[in-house]
Amino acid sequence: MTSGIYIHIPFCVSKCNYCNFLSFTGKENIELYKNALIAEIKNSSKQITLTETIYIGGGTPTSIPLNYLTEIIGAIVSYPLAEGLEFTAEANPGTVNYEVLRTLRNAGVNRLSFGLQTTHNSLLKNLGRIHTYAEFEQNYFTARQAGFTNINVDLMYALANETADHLKRDIARIISLCPEHISAYPLTIEENTPFENLKPADDSLVLQMFDIIKNELKKAGYNHYEISNFAKDGFASKHNLAYWQRKNYLGMGLGAHSFFNGRRFSNTEDLNEYIAAFGELKKLRHTSVFIEKTDAMEEFFFLGLRVREGIALAAFLKEFGVPAYSVFGAGIKKMIDYKLLQESGGRLFLTDNGINLSNRVFTEIFTAREWPRSL
Ligand code: SF4
Repeated sequence: MTSGIYIHIPFCVSKCNYCNFLSFTGKENIELYKNALIAEIKNSSKQITLTETIYIGGGTPTSIPLNYLTEIIGAIVSYPLAEGLEFTAEANPGTVNYEVLRTLRNAGVNRLSFGLQTTHNSLLKNLGRIHTYAEFEQNYFTARQAGFTNINVDLMYALANETADHLKRDIARIISLCPEHISAYPLTIEENTPFENLKPADDSLVLQMFDIIKNELKKAGYNHYEISNFAKDGFASKHNLAYWQRKNYLGMGLGAHSFFNGRRFSNTEDLNEYIAAFGELKKLRHTSVFIEKTDAMEEFFFLGLRVREGIALAAFLKEFGVPAYSVFGAGIKKMIDYKLLQESGGRLFLTDNGINLSNRVFTEIFTAREWPRSL
């Protein structure tokens, strides 16, 4: 079964200063890209069965002409969709209005993800975002009017010139809007972006800010269900959970990644090549790797521990035929001794402190692993 479908729209109004995502600002290729993407969606029919989640991301999906977006949505919703489908579209503030949002809602999109990042206009400007906080608020209320009852807001922290007080103000403003879901990621400095020479925030400040986010959102009734994600009851992102639970998903569009029947593959990142392939899967899918059992075991841990409820030890045994402790036992025990990991009810999960130091936990567990001879 195809659990999830991801559709990539690689166009933006302008490029943000921190962004190394696969996205372009020119308009000239949008129509050709849309046609090639729809051809890929049609040619993937053999792999698309019952779909539980769809996610249209980018780039900025709402930066392309609305009729193109609805054509793309029309192609994807022609496949069998599970009851309770979660259908998310990313929508950047400054690129939507009532008509756009109502059209998306009517086309079947039932979850919106707004890239806000910060509520401070000076910091938004530093980031190279195209919108102000007031524009975001207006778009947010319009989305409610258009019928969206499941909205995510992206928050970015540890920005240049950002203080803890800035962040507290961000969180208070976002909470006052009552979005169902909030994602919070620290700024990462990427090569080949205008920010590449920026000094990253001190680790201690990043941790302090992460603590503020966790505490304030907990007080406001959000469940911290994954390292960087918070949701009201019943609103955890099904699409992202499927990634972390290693369910099948198909990515379509430029550079999109897939995980399907134990194999990971990705599409070309060359826009001209993608357009020329015109949906011919053999031409546009570049890398295809079968995940070896040892890598799959590590993925099971690395992805599963990101989620607060952690991993079921019985599920590991069922999938790999060996107990998790026989492979990662030394690291698990050490991390339990350090109170970074906890075992309860047949599950292993990160403690509050373990969440702060998750990279260390993963390193310790994987460094001390012992592959069984029978693998
Ligand atoms: S809107 Fe998103 S994808 Fe587009 S440039 Fe900004 S960060 Fe990158």
